[in-house]
Amino acid sequence: MLQLKMLGTAAGGGVPQWNCACAICDLARKHPQRVAPRLQLQGIVSGDGENWFLLNASPDLRSQIESNPELQPSRTQSRRSTPVRGIVLTGADLDQVIGLLLLREFQPLTVYATPLVRDTLEADSFFRMLHRLPNQLTWIEISAGETFALCDSGINCTPIPLAGSLPFYAREFDSHLPGQASIGLLMEFEGCRVAYTPSVPEITDDLRAVYSSCDTILVDGAFWSDTELSETHSGTPLARAIGHVPLSGDDGTIALLAGLDCPRKVFVHINNTNPILDPHSMEHRATIEAGWEIGYDGWQLAQQP
Ligand SMILES: [Zn+2]
Repeated sequence: MLQLKMLGTAAGGGVPQWNCACAICDLARKHPQRVAPRLQLQGIVSGDGENWFLLNASPDLRSQIESNPELQPSRTQSRRSTPVRGIVLTGADLDQVIGLLLLREFQPLTVYATPLVRDTLEADSFFRMLHRLPNQLTWIEISAGETFALCDSGINCTPIPLAGSLPFYAREFDSHLPGQASIGLLMEFEGCRVAYTPSVPEITDDLRAVYSSCDTILVDGAFWSDTELSETHSGTPLARAIGHVPLSGDDGTIALLAGLDCPRKVFVHINNTNPILDPHSMEHRATIEAGWEIGYDGWQLAQQP
């Protein structure tokens, strides 16, 4: 079975977020048994349980490695080693790439990314830290719809084109073509199909078709409503304006995927303002009753709900 583990399930900022005292962040600080704190989004996959691939590289990656032994170097290997065989980037957002800088320390890395994501990172002086040694960084170019093998893991990945754009601080590089700045991943291993789409700006017919072919889907669960963020913190944008379909409403993710023939549906990339994180909330209950799992740090594909 494909081994897939979530080491962080929160959107950018985590739960709680350092400068936020919303109801959920407050509960996560004062009553962590009720609202479990969550690190920023980080997934890992493996075919054999020994060689691992990171799905993006989160700002919390150092602590995620130190609290998960499967990602730690072994005394039986050379003194400087890592079970991390590669990193697949689904975008160039800081929350998706900043962990790469935490993996420097002269470690050769293999990074799978679209040309646009690669160009964006290579234009940033900080990321030149990863070119300190010859061949420190090996880029493998990936393209929407073109299946590639994750090294020799047996896992085949197909990038799913998404409509997202580059983050605002990199807009000058943007091509505004779907599938270049933002992708999802369809992963296949021994007949098991899993879609990993932590950032979903629009649920298209094509995306629905991919989801309906899967055994498990991990889907953007950032916001319950379009106005959730702006109602919590004035002056902040609507969910859809920053590339996230909200969960609720007739045009929300839960309704749009209600008839989907897919055994496991899991929300990940959950923002700290999202009331589904509180098990006492009606939004949490409605999500569970609609057949969704609410992702948590430590969630694993191998464990049934
Ligand atoms: Zn908050």
